[in-house]
Amino acid sequence: MDAANTNNDNCNRREFVLASGLFVVGGLVSCNEFEKTLSPEAVKPKSQPPLDPTSIRVRIGKNAEKVTIANNTFNKSILGNKPLKVEIKPNTKVIVNGKTKTTSGLIMLHPNKNNTFDVVLHVSVEQYLPGVLAGELFAHWHPTTFAAQAVAARSYAVNLHLERITKSHFDVTDGPSSQMFLGDVTLDVAHRAVQETNGIVLRWNKKIIPAYYSACCGGLAATAYDAISSAESHQITPLQGHSGKDKCTTLKIRSWNTERSARLLRRRLNACANSMNIPSFADIRSIHSVEPSAINQHGRPATLAITCRRKKVYEVRAIDFMHAANTNVSALPNPQRKLQSSFLVGKKAGSNLELSGHGMGHGVGLCQYGAQELAGAGESWQNILAWYYPKAEINS
Ligand SMILES: [Zn+2]
Repeated sequence: MDAANTNNDNCNRREFVLASGLFVVGGLVSCNEFEKTLSPEAVKPKSQPPLDPTSIRVRIGKNAEKVTIANNTFNKSILGNKPLKVEIKPNTKVIVNGKTKTTSGLIMLHPNKNNTFDVVLHVSVEQYLPGVLAGELFAHWHPTTFAAQAVAARSYAVNLHLERITKSHFDVTDGPSSQMFLGDVTLDVAHRAVQETNGIVLRWNKKIIPAYYSACCGGLAATAYDAISSAESHQITPLQGHSGKDKCTTLKIRSWNTERSARLLRRRLNACANSMNIPSFADIRSIHSVEPSAINQHGRPATLAITCRRKKVYEVRAIDFMHAANTNVSALPNPQRKLQSSFLVGKKAGSNLELSGHGMGHGVGLCQYGAQELAGAGESWQNILAWYYPKAEINS
């Protein structure tokens, strides 16, 4: 996800890239222990299988040529064509693709066809989560924000695990394409949040939901249907967003402006027509303005109208426009500054397109900056989750 603490503002956020003590008693907390914390009906929901005992599978290295695990180096020749399991001790150092993580659990090396392999950490969900919270939130943020984020991140990861267990060798990655994961961390507030919410997830009709979240919604909620995909699992009340303005509306961080060469942006959209399977992108010959053409039930743009010089109008999904505008295209210079959200308008100014918008990320579900404001105002993590995931069941 687009983490709150991976952006660039005046509170030391890092550039974009979407925990111990500590409380873990007796080493790894097994998935079975996670299940024990759930209610009987939650443990065996009619529509979902129980959690795999190996728990969350985090891909921490993609297409690796070698990996160093506790001073032992593995490469494809050692690996052969079958997956290899590597047992590790708690707090083991793993170096892959130039990144170092300290991790616990076990490591699976999965060979790929291109003479590389994927490095996948299997770790219990409760032990996984502190490293997510440390990557997603600022360390100085409110403990209640951490608790709300812990439930959202747990729901997101477990939902993906159940969806992907028979389809893929990993559930999540360790970066913004799913949720950040820093490995074992010693951030006390993260561990306390995970412990306080141990086993609690968000459900709809007893099924654990993919509890999407983003750094800032910009004031108005997006729906998963508009901003993620039209999958049936996204057409549920908790992922339709809340009515009314969010607490983040009062924050300066909520708004952004940038300029793009109108010609290069047009060429970038053209180039994305095939890769994104949006043929109309190829037909755009100029960009004069970009304005909302349809809004969702909360007032946020769902689609954008791209108006060309000769008044021809192309209507596209707002999220598709943002993704295309942020895509690196080999024949063009990479965008110097990415569009931070799809909640935007644009108008021509000379040869440039002036773009202004609200929010950071897709705007679905929990808004990290908004949650921090709500926590500061004294709201409980349960109330924060009830606001961002309307009518979701919050249970253990
Ligand atoms: Zn917000």
